[in-house]
Formats: sequence, structure tokens, C-alpha cells
Amino acid sequence: LNRRLAEFGTTIFAEMSALAVRTGAINLGQGFPDTDGPEQVREAAVRALRDGRGNQYPPGPGIPELRTAVAEHQRRWYGQWGLDPDPDTEVLVTAGATEAITAALLALVEPGDEVIALEPYYDSYAAAIAMAGGTRVPVTLRPDSGEDTEEHGTQSGGRFRLDLDELRDAVTDRTRLILLNTPHNPTGTVLSRDELATIAGLCVERGLLAVTDEVYEHLVYEGEHIPIATFPGMRERTVTISSAGKTFSFTGWKVGWVTSTPELVGAVRSAKQYLTYVSAGPFQYAVAEALALPDDYYTSLRDDLRAQRDLLSQGLSDAGFGVFRAPGTYFVTTDIRPLGERSGIDFCLALPERCGVVAVPTQVFYDHEAAGAPFVRFAFCKRQEVLADAVRRLKDVP
Ligand code: PMP
Ligand code: GLN
Repeated sequence: LNRRLAEFGTTIFAEMSALAVRTGAINLGQGFPDTDGPEQVREAAVRALRDGRGNQYPPGPGIPELRTAVAEHQRRWYGQWGLDPDPDTEVLVTAGATEAITAALLALVEPGDEVIALEPYYDSYAAAIAMAGGTRVPVTLRPDSGEDTEEHGTQSGGRFRLDLDELRDAVTDRTRLILLNTPHNPTGTVLSRDELATIAGLCVERGLLAVTDEVYEHLVYEGEHIPIATFPGMRERTVTISSAGKTFSFTGWKVGWVTSTPELVGAVRSAKQYLTYVSAGPFQYAVAEALALPDDYYTSLRDDLRAQRDLLSQGLSDAGFGVFRAPGTYFVTTDIRPLGERSGIDFCLALPERCGVVAVPTQVFYDHEAAGAPFVRFAFCKRQEVLADAVRRLKDVP
């Protein structure tokens, strides 16, 4: 392994899922649903395969049906704030959001450029920045006291927030871009309109690009998801990324997309061409149909997940964990110090033996490791009975 990638071994998700398989524990580590997405969308994939659509190389930017569906999706959910991408020049289909993130960084970062990422950050960000020869500059999200009752919804506890002064101080003459993620994995936080406005202001003032990972855009239980591309001056400097994995519960399909200006989409496409050339064909037809599902699909996905979140959060709290609010995503972050524990890594390695549950230590998503040591992430994209079983087991932990 070369020096750029030397620090990246096996991803924590593969490691923890292997631990779950080995011990037979309930896997609340890696985030993937235990129920597949809609039958009609699976049928659409089968039809495409059978009818010979997408079985040979599809067009490089993605099939026109999917590019049109992505553009319509942006208009349907964010058109009131001005998003209206042109399907021919402003949309690119990728092999999941993961490829979109890597291709964007490879296309936009020069060796030595600094990339600001919100810490804790999704693990592929650090590797993608390294592959591009960039330097990552983490800005740490910190939990608040949870006193802002306006935002609470059905949850108590604090939420992870961005310190806007710290972000401002992190920008230097070498900063090329800010890599954002909202709703945010692993903390479950959703950046507020004020937080986003400040980030946008900083990007415009300092001439920075924003690459924004919005794969959890439809998993928001309190407040709302606002794409940063909708803020003044941001459309022309933002690369927006999302994918079908979370929204349609098909994490194995790996269909993602980028929307931006023709210039930035073209840049990302140049990198994507030599990573995968094109993305797998038949699933693109199915995802085009999925994006057009009626509003009730999106509402019931969110309502089900909210109930799952509440069940798990309450159970963790009853078991003695400190529980942070998760206004978005399908993850809840906990503090294990109330259980008399200090190290999330030790705790997660022992948890399957102690009670038959797998979780992910948040510390692995930090450069400032001490800041993340006492936090542990649990996924709630699992059936209610599975979560109820996990909650029963977790009560035996202390
Ligand atoms: N970004 C974040 C924040 C994620 O949680 C995930 C899901 N694993 C991804 C990107 C990757 O998405 P995809 O599976 O579409 O590549
Ligand atoms: N995004 C998922 C998570 O955070 C898993 C993705 C992966 O395994 N790479 O758990």
C-alpha cells in the first residue's frame, strides 16, 4: 500500500459486520436496512434486465431516464428554493455516493490543497482526500446541552453542532473546499438554516467550493433538510451528492448522482470516466422509477424510521447510556461515560460478548481521537422487533 493510503486498512463497517457474523450478535453497527425497498422498484430492475435495458454499457453520464428523474427530484423537493438542474448538463450518475465523493475530490483538489471536513466524518472522506493528495482539516462537531427546546421534537438530550468560529478559523489560503454532510453520519445531526447560511457565506467570502453529501436528505425527523446549493452565491460553487441506498433501502445497488453546474459536473465526470467508466445499467432504470414514487412513500419511510429511532433512543436511555438527539439519518449516537466506560473502541469490541449487540465506536471517525473516545453509534434501520430485542439485551450491559 502506498504512503497516501497507508493509514487506511479495513473499514470499520466491514470489521464490525464481520464481528456480528462471528458472534451471532444483532448488528446495529453498519448502517443498512434489514428490509429491502419497494417491490415495484425491484420489479422495475427485473424488467430492465429481462428486456435488455442497460445490459450493455449505458451512456457515461447515466441513462437519460435517470438523469431526468434526478433533475425532477431536485425540482420537486427543492424547487421552491431555486434548484432546477438541467438533466443533460447538470446531472451525473455515479456508482453510489462513494464514487461521487471520490471523483469530486480527485477532480477538484490539487495536491497540497486543504479540505475541511466536519469531524466525526464518514470514513471514505479521509481516504478520498488522501487519494486526491489533499490535506484534511477537521472541524469538530460538539454536542450541546440540549436546552434548545424549540428544536427537540420528540427527543430529549443534546445535538451535535458546528462551532462556526472554529470553522472560520480553519480556513487558510490553501483551503480549496469544504466537504459537508447533512444530515450527518455518524452523529445524526442536521445542519440548521443558520449554520448553513454561515458556511455558505464563508464559501462565498473566501472563494471556496462546497462538496455536500446529502445521502440522508429524506431521513429527517425534526426540522428540514436544506441543500446548501440553494443559498445565495452557492449554486455555482457547490457539488451536491446523493444516492438511492438510503432513500429506497437498496444499499447494495450502488446508484448515486451528482448535481451541479455544467462545468463542475464535467470536472467530476472526467474523474468518474476513469474510475468506473459508467455505472451498472439495469438498476439505473429502476432508480429512475423509484425517484418518481409519490409523496406517501417518502412520508412513510420517514415515519417508520422515526418510530424506530424513538424506540432505540428510549431503550438506550433506559439502559443508562447518554443519548444524543438524532434529528436525521438512521443513527443515534450515545455517550458511554454514564455507564462508567471511557473507551468506545474497547466497549464495542466487548459488547457482542457482554450482551449480543454490535455497535460502532465513533472515535474511528475522528482525527482528534480523544474528542470521540466516549461516543458509540447505533443504527436503527432495523425492524421494530429486532430493535426491541437489542434494547432488552442492552439493559444487561451495566
Ligand atoms: N455518505 C454517507 C454519509 C454515508 O453514510 C454513506 C452510506 N454508507 C455513503 C456516503 C455512501 O453511499 P453509497 O452507498 O451510495 O455509496
Ligand atoms: N454508510 C453506512 C454506515 O455508515 C455503511 C457504509 C459502508 O459500509 N461503507 O454504516
